[in-house]
Amino acid sequence: MQELSEFYIDGQWVKSASGDRHALIDPSTEEQIGTVALGTVGDVDAAVAAASSAFPGWAFSDLADRVAAVERLRHAYEARLEDMAQAISREMGAPIDLARQRQAPAALRHIDTYLAAIESFSFERMLSPHAPHDRILMEPIGVVGMVTPWNWPMSQIALKVVPALLVGCTMVLKPSEYAPFSSALLAEIVDAAKIPAGVFNLVHGDGMTAGTRLVEHPDVAMISFTGSTRAGAAIVKRAADTFKRVGLELGGKGANLIFPDADADAVARGVKTCFINSGQNCNAPTRMLVQRAVYDEAVEQAREAAESLAVGPSNQEGGHMGPVVSARQYERIQSYIEEGVAEGARLVAGGSGRPAGFNRGFFVQPTVFADVTSDMTIAREEIFGPVLSIMPFDDEEEALSIANDTPYGLTNYVQSADGARRNRMARRLRSGMVEMNGQPRAAGSPFGGVGHSGLAREGGVFGLEEFLVIKSVSGWGGDNRS
Ligand code: NAD
Repeated sequence: MQELSEFYIDGQWVKSASGDRHALIDPSTEEQIGTVALGTVGDVDAAVAAASSAFPGWAFSDLADRVAAVERLRHAYEARLEDMAQAISREMGAPIDLARQRQAPAALRHIDTYLAAIESFSFERMLSPHAPHDRILMEPIGVVGMVTPWNWPMSQIALKVVPALLVGCTMVLKPSEYAPFSSALLAEIVDAAKIPAGVFNLVHGDGMTAGTRLVEHPDVAMISFTGSTRAGAAIVKRAADTFKRVGLELGGKGANLIFPDADADAVARGVKTCFINSGQNCNAPTRMLVQRAVYDEAVEQAREAAESLAVGPSNQEGGHMGPVVSARQYERIQSYIEEGVAEGARLVAGGSGRPAGFNRGFFVQPTVFADVTSDMTIAREEIFGPVLSIMPFDDEEEALSIANDTPYGLTNYVQSADGARRNRMARRLRSGMVEMNGQPRAAGSPFGGVGHSGLAREGGVFGLEEFLVIKSVSGWGGDNRS
């Protein structure tokens, strides 16, 4: 049992004022493995006070010192990489190999891309040659409240903490109450990296109390939120009274357009991308749209791909799929699968109930539905589990109209050998990101959505700009060229 009863505030481990605890359950065994203290309004206020007093010193520090601090952070993180993989695997059920290869190292990759982005970033810019005495200053926004989910816990947190550190913001992190082990370890790493006291603060807690207090706190200048669309909407409303900037990275319902000239692996790759991390990905391609000429063949390939995916516990090595995070999430996914059947979708793989051989643990069968229509619940709502919906289309126009028939707009996908067609699709798909032919977007490219998927852009230069405000100055003296 791991009991997390302390928060990291002003460079110290501080006992929580709260008596409330959230029970931590191993998703593979359903056994309790620990508890985490749920922070109170007073705990959040103490953390915000520390971040506020640290802000002027950090905001006006030399960039070289902040870069050196992030380099120390990278070093300290790398030294605890295996511990981080274990923590993530334990708390949210990612198979240990996935945690080692993708979940834990994601933070290192984000550190590297942000360090590369800051190298050529200009905090003081000339407006234009026509205004030699004007200057544009990019300044840190202030204390940032960070509220994060459990599905890629360190990736999401690093996408916020690292740019905020680099541009001179101070911060209070409230991670998901379902994934507190990894952020408690991150606070140890921050401490080992000797980041100045008060710059980074951690308060554990739930959304209703600790999350809401951060959102409403008058001394917090910005909320950077990753999580559900429902919570994102509540946060925007609550943040209005104190005129906070709110960065939102929310849910998704990605379409994957498969044309007859797609490469031979396109369908299997689409299934794999949909089911990685047990389907708990905001950018999952959960709607596979296939042109009729290759539809039956694609359904068959998807069935094979789903049925060949092994399911197993998080502590077992290998490339299998683990459990989903919680009993609540398990039940939600089961009811979506049942709704798919009830609404008339054709079940081609998986289905409700645990996979054969499991009588406990939050294990879901890799599930594929075919003949799904846009009005069905499984095509409209974010399921956040290993459930794929396959839908036929006749031509490009119909593919676009089905793909864009969703309030979400995070990542869409296109599979076709025809470059001109891919570009046509990329221009007209309504989403913040489009990935084509299985080619990952490059390091430093902006991550974010449109519509109900949110408004933020994280990663690279765009991620630095999230935490900056623009000041426009006239009468600037001296050299104006940099
Ligand atoms: P969630 O919205 O339930 O919780 C996310 C965080 O917000 C947690 O820390 C939670 O305690 C807090 N919270 C909840 N309600 C709140 C409120 N009213 N005020 C303040 N804080 C509140 O989401 P989750 O279940 O942890 O994560 C899954 C969701 O996250 C999915 O919808 C997924 O698509 C989304 N997500 C999006 C991205 C992205 O980059 N777009 C990345 C990962 C996950």
